[in-house]
Amino acid sequence: MKEREYNMYDIIIIGAGPAGISASLYARRANLNVLVFYSGESELEKAEKIDNYYGFPDGITGKKLFEQGIEQAKKIGVEIIKNEVIKISKSSSSFIIKTIESEHEAKAIILSTGNKKIKPNIEGIEEFEGKGVSYCAICDAFFYRNKNVAVIGNGDFAVSEAGELSHVADRVTLLTNGLDEPKCEFEINNKKIKRIIGEKRVKGIEFEDGTSLDVDGIFIALGQASAGDFAKTLGIIQNGENIKVNDKMETNIEGIYACGNVTGNLLQVCKAVHEGAEAALSAINYVRK
Ligand SMILES: Cc1cc2nc3c(=O)[nH]c(=O)nc-3n(C[C@H](O)[C@H](O)[C@H](O)COP(=O)(O)OP(=O)(O)OC[C@H]3O[C@@H](n4cnc5c(N)ncnc54)[C@H](O)[C@@H]3O)c2cc1C
Repeated sequence: MKEREYNMYDIIIIGAGPAGISASLYARRANLNVLVFYSGESELEKAEKIDNYYGFPDGITGKKLFEQGIEQAKKIGVEIIKNEVIKISKSSSSFIIKTIESEHEAKAIILSTGNKKIKPNIEGIEEFEGKGVSYCAICDAFFYRNKNVAVIGNGDFAVSEAGELSHVADRVTLLTNGLDEPKCEFEINNKKIKRIIGEKRVKGIEFEDGTSLDVDGIFIALGQASAGDFAKTLGIIQNGENIKVNDKMETNIEGIYACGNVTGNLLQVCKAVHEGAEAALSAINYVRK
């Protein structure tokens, strides 16, 4: 683990796709101190060819457009760090953004993490949502005081959720569901999961080899922390899986803005770029106040 860093920024943007980079360009050109985090593949990089975006008569690969966006932002002094944000919390007049390696503070936050969470394809997940299956350790850990819980996932976010739970639960097991094991201090089970067992509430997990594990709660933490995960811990109102914003890209929490695929509707580059600009203008006004 690297030495812990701590820095104060005007705006921290989570996500370096078209929404986040567009926001960073406006914010930096307003002479603000801007930091962008990104980690994992963006939707943009998955696009083989973007043929319907303004200014590219022969199209452009998503990867190239992504790289050019980052280059453009760096050129005007936007700081960009490749690292997964695992937690955002609010202090009295600012926000604390945590990665595994560092901690930063910002006056305003722009959420542009792209598409929503991955739900595991495991029998019983939907049936037991709210009856023992949860997507937010900070929100629900308290219900599992001195009980046994499992976290499904194998990345930094899953380890961070297990950490939250370890302060209240009796026993925390990380279930990788057959994927690589992360390095961490928690008990790990890497068997493939067959289904969630229970009646009115979760009682346990059955594995494909016929064995089972008794648990009272199951926390889903697949992939990276998403805007939806941050929304749950910060109290940001969602519209289904999307972050609810007004036409200024403001969420219900002062100082937090969202843009791009996280707000739903048209899932296209042009809309992400437009919303990034709107989010930045709102955040600039807020910071200058
Ligand atoms: C196969 C495919 C083809 C497509 N074709 C087109 C097309 O032809 N035309 C078009 O307009 N659109 C197309 N799209 C859609 C377009 O790519 C998206 O609408 C657009 O990329 C959304 O931008 P965004 O910035 O909201 O999210 P993304 O581009 O997904 O960027 C999200 C960013 O958030 C970062 N991130 C996420 N979680 C974290 C975290 N916890 N910590 C740090 N960083 C994080 C990621 O690393 C990434 O940088 C296509 C999409 C796909 C998948």
